[in-house]
Amino acid sequence: MEVIRAAVKLGSGAHKIAAVTSGNRTHSYAQLLRSAWELSTKLRDDRDGLEHKNKALQGARVGIVAAPSAEFVVGIWGTWLSGGVAVPLALSHPESELLHVFTDANITLVISTDDHKSLVEGVSQKAAARLFILPSIPSLEEGADGSEGYDQILDEVLSLSHVKDEELGLIIYTSGTTGRPKGAVHTQGALAAQVAMLSSAWQYKPSDRFLHCLPLHHILTFLPFLHVHGLFNALLAPLYAGSSVHFIPKFSVSGVWQCWRESYPTKNSQAENPITCFTGVPTMYVRLLQGYESMNAASREAAASAARRLRLMMCGSSALPLPVFIHWEKVTGHRLLERYGMTEFGMGLSNPLDGERRPGSVGVPLPGVVVTIEPESAESEPGTGELCVKSPSMFSGYWNQPTVTQEAFDEDGFFKTGDFVKQESDGYIRILGRTSVDILKSGGYKLSALEIESMLLEHPDISECAVLGIPDKDYGEVIAAVVILDTENQSDVKMTLPQLRDWALKRMAPYKIPQRLHVWESLPRNAMGKVNKKELKSLLTTIAS
Ligand code: ATP
Ligand code: MG
Repeated sequence: MEVIRAAVKLGSGAHKIAAVTSGNRTHSYAQLLRSAWELSTKLRDDRDGLEHKNKALQGARVGIVAAPSAEFVVGIWGTWLSGGVAVPLALSHPESELLHVFTDANITLVISTDDHKSLVEGVSQKAAARLFILPSIPSLEEGADGSEGYDQILDEVLSLSHVKDEELGLIIYTSGTTGRPKGAVHTQGALAAQVAMLSSAWQYKPSDRFLHCLPLHHILTFLPFLHVHGLFNALLAPLYAGSSVHFIPKFSVSGVWQCWRESYPTKNSQAENPITCFTGVPTMYVRLLQGYESMNAASREAAASAARRLRLMMCGSSALPLPVFIHWEKVTGHRLLERYGMTEFGMGLSNPLDGERRPGSVGVPLPGVVVTIEPESAESEPGTGELCVKSPSMFSGYWNQPTVTQEAFDEDGFFKTGDFVKQESDGYIRILGRTSVDILKSGGYKLSALEIESMLLEHPDISECAVLGIPDKDYGEVIAAVVILDTENQSDVKMTLPQLRDWALKRMAPYKIPQRLHVWESLPRNAMGKVNKKELKSLLTTIAS
């Protein structure tokens, strides 16, 4: 609730823009709050069939199926104002997976929009959940600034007492990179701690405007569509800080460049409310660079000069390869601010806003976060091991999975991330990868797949790659690389293992050079741009045997 309270206090000038959606429709903070309040009143008045009838929706799980938009915000805020627990859901994945979440979270009510009605109707019926279709939110262009009667709504919202810190606010499912997604439960207090932490660390301000285009694409495999990156970093924290959020519902390279160019049309001019902040996953920056390279010289200059004028560009969700960091800085002048987080506790580590943004590192713990590094054995190199975290933004458990929850914490109450890291002497932390798939044990060496990937990406013909360890009776594991070749400029580019080895011998220690090479047309990525290495590993193991 602090998330809403702060948002409406900071953005409470009725005309202050909170959201910009497709067709450049703008919505004020007052309008969002008014719509959310109206929604919550409807939900509370019409709660037949829901559990916990006596206390509004208290604790009931409410599915939110909407594109990233003003309607999405109203769905979440409205749910909270009526005491419900918001469960953001994916737009396009197999019905069986949607049903899994409906049943897993025991969703009794779904809030959606007209565009998604046909998709949601069938599933809601099967799951016996009530469907509520949100009317479209009036925009400033239609003369609706939400100011009429706003003060009274504001008073009522600010004095609402039925939503407390310890109550549940959100169930957000993990990305499913290593298994079936798990529902991470966040209390109102944990959410408030997270948005306060982020908006302070990165100095989000009312004058900021975020370009929001997460996730990367709609999906083939299951992923609830708004992951913590899109939900916390690019939506709830900006609103908490009174900033505005400009939504592009689906990431497109030309759409992003165009948005920046419209914000800063010439070197010395800018639009009325220019985009100032952007956050993306590494694959987005790779694609944006490819888009940049294919522009003519004049467009390149205009695009780069516009991008330079943003205040802040951030990256995370998976490792940012070094060559991408370097190339992006060369083109736009931005040293991407890389940070690290998980669905379970939101963001935990970050490079500083002011101070050294170290390439290849995710920085230091955010204020309030405490970390320990659990060495694998007594012989482990000092500072290396599994990252364990305590944070005021920590989730309170996996929904319906008490044993998995219990196993996720160590005896001192630290959450075990499953990520293997190295801490440098000045405290900066490097992510070496997931203990389960990214740490390779080959011929007595312990190798980081992420480090080898970064090295391979320096090859001029490689545009994307994934490195894995494949079981081998002699070496323990052999290093396999799946590479995607850059065919943008030459369509006939080819690569063989001996050619790659020749190139690599001058640049990499011999024991880090891949022993197997697979040249593919694309990498299987989920909606956050992550490669499911567990699946890839079993596929390559089958191919090898
Ligand atoms: P699941 O838990 O279902 O397997 P997931 O772990 O991918 O999926 P998320 O919570 O979305 O689900 O992602 C958290 C993980 O993403 C981290 O544990 C880490 O492995 C990875 N990650 C996030 N940020 C970074 C980063 N900057 N560098 C490297 N890895 C990162
Ligand atoms: Mg995980």
